[in-house]
Amino acid sequence: MGALPKRKYAKARQGKRRGHLGLSLPSLDYCPQCHSPKLPHHVCPTCGSYAGREVIRIETPKKKAG
Ligand SMILES: [Zn+2]
Repeated sequence: MGALPKRKYAKARQGKRRGHLGLSLPSLDYCPQCHSPKLPHHVCPTCGSYAGREVIRIETPKKKAG
């Protein structure tokens, strides 16, 4: 049999340890071009601009005719 803890951990102590495990919201920036929220240091997913110029073309999804 392997090593086992001598005492049980009280729920309060367990909760104190897990007090640091929470998730946090991702930080948000706003695009200077179109002012929509985007991730910092990322190309804007709405207008495709980065550092004041368009770097990728955003293709709008085409609706199926018929
Ligand atoms: Zn943008």
